[in-house]
Amino acid sequence: MASPIMLVTGGSRGIGAATARMAAARGWRVVLSYKGQAQAADEVVQQIRAAGGTAIAIQADVSVEADVLRLFRTVDEQFGALTVLVNNAGMLEQQMRLDQMDLDRWQRVFSANVFGSFLCAKQAVLRMSAKYGGSGGSIVNLSSAASRIGSPNEFIDYAAAKGAIDSMTVGLAKEVAAESIRVNAVRPGLIYTDIHASAGEPGRVDRAKAGVPMQRGGTPEEVAEAILWLASDQASYLTGTLIDVTGGR
Ligand code: NAP
Repeated sequence: MASPIMLVTGGSRGIGAATARMAAARGWRVVLSYKGQAQAADEVVQQIRAAGGTAIAIQADVSVEADVLRLFRTVDEQFGALTVLVNNAGMLEQQMRLDQMDLDRWQRVFSANVFGSFLCAKQAVLRMSAKYGGSGGSIVNLSSAASRIGSPNEFIDYAAAKGAIDSMTVGLAKEVAAESIRVNAVRPGLIYTDIHASAGEPGRVDRAKAGVPMQRGGTPEEVAEAILWLASDQASYLTGTLIDVTGGR
């Protein structure tokens, strides 16, 4: 039997890259997408291939529907029936109070973090659902502990966008549960990736780690373990579940 197929959006760096590498090492054929950093994406693909795995990288901005349609068509053509979607692509903007933000920023934050995941989830359901002739599958969304903490003085918009991902996870899980699709989410806490630099504070994890009960930040691999478990058949009776990977935060 051909090995299962996993699409990891935002698989060029951070948590997505760790997930792509770990999935390939466990026998998945991996498609990773990225927005702009082709070289980073290519490095992940080369690492996977050097270790004997199968992977390709595709540029696609998840907030642009035409890109998402092209991404899924390429998966169909080059690999076949998608088994798992990891809705990982996400972004932060500069830290600031809500009263300093503007509508353009909110539109960017919600387009990338919310509508991107919705667009990809739609294409995955259209392929996986028994209702449309598919043979089932699993979707793992990347939410954030921010959805319950709220991220005051930093990025309430991002926290609210992740709140939308929590609601989508619960609702979509119920909507497609009888169609052999499981939908779950992972909510990471403070994880060592580039995302904090893009918000203007590269050292954010070390600055804030004293507030983590375990007194440290997490690694992308620690998040990837939870993603892969939710995606796997070992989690066959889980749907609509939000797993916090936060060191107790
Ligand atoms: P990261 O290191 O900044 O990497 C982000 C990835 O997403 C990159 O591959 C990037 O592509 C891609 N991306 C960003 N915007 C995109 C778009 N519009 N279309 C397609 N791809 C896009 O981020 P990370 O820390 O690994 O975060 C991964 C996920 O975990 C995100 O959903 C994030 O919100 C969530 N999360 C992270 C933390 C944390 O502490 N790190 C905590 C909670 C939740 P390029 O390389 O091409 O730019």
